[in-house]
Formats: sequence, structure tokens, C-alpha cells
Amino acid sequence: MIPGPTPVPERVLTALGRHPIGHRSKEFQALVERTNKQLRWLHQTEEEVLVITGSGTAAMEAGIINTLRKGDKVLCGENGKFGERWVKVAKAYGLEVEVIQSAWGTPLETDTFKERLEKDINKEIRAVIITHSETSTGVINDLEVISQHVKKHGKALTIADCVTSLGACNVPMDAWGIDVIASGSQKGYMMPPGLSFVALSQRAWQAYKKSDLPKFYLDLGQYLKAAKNNSNPFTPSVNLYFAMEKALEMMEKEGLKNIFSRHARHRSAIQAAMKAIGLPLFADEIHGSPAITAVAPEDFDAELLRKIVKENFDILLAGGQDHLKGKIFRIGHLGFVNDRDILTAIAAIETSVHSLGAGKNKLGEGLRAASDHII
Ligand SMILES: *Cc1c(COP(=O)(O)O)cnc(C)c1O
Repeated sequence: MIPGPTPVPERVLTALGRHPIGHRSKEFQALVERTNKQLRWLHQTEEEVLVITGSGTAAMEAGIINTLRKGDKVLCGENGKFGERWVKVAKAYGLEVEVIQSAWGTPLETDTFKERLEKDINKEIRAVIITHSETSTGVINDLEVISQHVKKHGKALTIADCVTSLGACNVPMDAWGIDVIASGSQKGYMMPPGLSFVALSQRAWQAYKKSDLPKFYLDLGQYLKAAKNNSNPFTPSVNLYFAMEKALEMMEKEGLKNIFSRHARHRSAIQAAMKAIGLPLFADEIHGSPAITAVAPEDFDAELLRKIVKENFDILLAGGQDHLKGKIFRIGHLGFVNDRDILTAIAAIETSVHSLGAGKNKLGEGLRAASDHII
């Protein structure tokens, strides 16, 4: 129950065990044609979704360096560990970064972006870089509204880390006007780590033509050309493509609406359970991520609870990062997770909290509160 790598269905795992095939073969080309179509469906876009063999950071870095120029001014939203990472990447490439911060555990203020963009009458801001679901704190940022403000600016692009929102909640790339969207296989895709995905809007492809930041493996022009040919510029992880086709077939069968409502239901069940156990949520309920819930116990070390849950129930919860270590634990509920997994995790947490003598309510109240959302 961590936010990635997430659980992998057996039919996806067994697909991995096939013998690799030539990445320039007709058979592979046919497979890529099918997966490209599936990926466009998942992203709700007409654009090509480009597949990079690398982790989610590779896709996000590619999105940044393919659309910007040296010294460009960018606004970076930072309300957690991943927001912090995109600031570092932007700085590493010599971009002029202005950070718009919110306290960890709170969402980015959409009005701050609006005001800053309206003030930019000379149109110097070239991109707004934000993390949709901030995995480190369990907060979902309002990408839809921020992207609208960026559109009104007219010049800047929206570059979005959707690594733990894509496949968990509605992220319609075209309808929201997202210019760059990045994600990774080990999160909502129900796949092992190793592939990452990035799609660019037509506006972003215009910016690509002028972009002058150094790149080779991550030069997305090569990936676009190859994608149009149902191919890949380099040797991709062929076996992960086998797995991807199966995972996306499962997602298509479930349907986007059902996938999103399952994640929303699990978020509500966990939020209700934690409150009933007497454990404060780290983020306000209405800003809770559909992929992960952070919990901030007051009476014991969060690391101790993680240890008890792991040792007694073999369930791995995520810890807090940096200054949040020991202060919060995080329950991942992303990807291949069903109602039983959620009820089991809640029962394990509730039992463990009581074993520490820290239960504020009667044992079972957490599970009862969760089941109201499940059935
Ligand atoms: C997991 C994750 C990433 C990507 O991390 P990698 O380790 O590079 O795959 C990026 N952003 C968010 C919000 C994530 O949760």
C-alpha cells in the first residue's frame, strides 16, 4: 500500500515473462500501434503519447527541456517533495525559476498563479510547472483551474506532473488544455517501474521547434517521428510493452469512469476510517489525492506504526519524507487496488493503533466508518 511501485496484476506479470522480440519487427510495430491507441484513450487526447524507457522523472525532465529555452522564466508550484524536484530540474538547465509555494499538506493557491500571470504584461513567463497529485503529502492541486489561468496568459505553457493522478482521477489532457503531461508506469498503470510517458499539445510542439536546451536521449522530436511510425527511436523495454498492453486492456475493460469512482471511493473510505480511529489527516479532506492519503498521528511515531503494520500484517505503508519523517505515514490506494485491500489495510492500521494503546474510539469504529463508503 505504497504509492509506487504499486501492485501488479498476475496477467500483467506473466506477460513480462515472454521472450523479447525484435523492436524493429512487424510484430512489435503492431503492438506499439495498439498501445499508442490505448495511451491516447487513457490521456483523453488526440496527441501522440510518447513512451520513454526511464522512470517518471525522465518524462517530466523531457517535457521541460523540449519546450523551453536557456534563461526562460518559469513559475514552479511547490507544495511537496515533487514540486521541489521540478524546481531543481529547471534550475539544472539554467531556467529562471520563480517558486510559488504552499505549506506542505496544503494545495497551491490558484489565485496566486492568476495574479502572477496577469501581472506579467510583457509575457516573460514561458511555463508554469506543477504537480497535480503531490504524492509526498497526499494533496491534489487544482490543475484544471491553474491551466485555465495559463491559457488566459496566452504565452506560457502548462507543464504538469500527473504521475499519481493519471489513471486515478479525471485528467482530460485536451479538454483541460494541458500542454505537457508526464506519468510513469509504476503508479496508476498497474505495471512495474521502467516506462514513462509524455504527451505534448500543438502549442508545446511549436515551442519545441525553438527550444535550445541540450538533449539527446530525451529529444522528443525523435520520439514523435518514431511514434507516427509505431516505433521507438531506441531499444525500448520490449517486455514492459507486453505488460503495458495487458494493463491497459484491463483499464479499458473497467472504463475510465469506474476507475475514477473506485479511487474516489477508496479515498473517502480511508479518510472516514482514519477520523473514526482518531488519527488526523495531514491534508484537508477536500484536497485529498485520489492516489494516496497522508495521516499525521499525534500520540506516537508514525515510523513505529509502519513497523508494526509491516511485521504483523505484511502490509507496507509509506513514511514521511524529509521533515515529515516520523510525523506522517501514507497509505497508497493507487492502481490495482480493490475494496478488500482497503478494508484489510484499515483493519491492520486500526488493530495496530489499539495495540499501542492509542485508539481514541472503540476498536472497529474505523472499519465501520470505511464500510459505509465501500458497500
Ligand atoms: C513517483 C512520482 C514521480 C516519478 O518518480 P520516478 O521515481 O522518477 O518514477 C514524479 N512525480 C510524482 C508526483 C510521483 O509520485
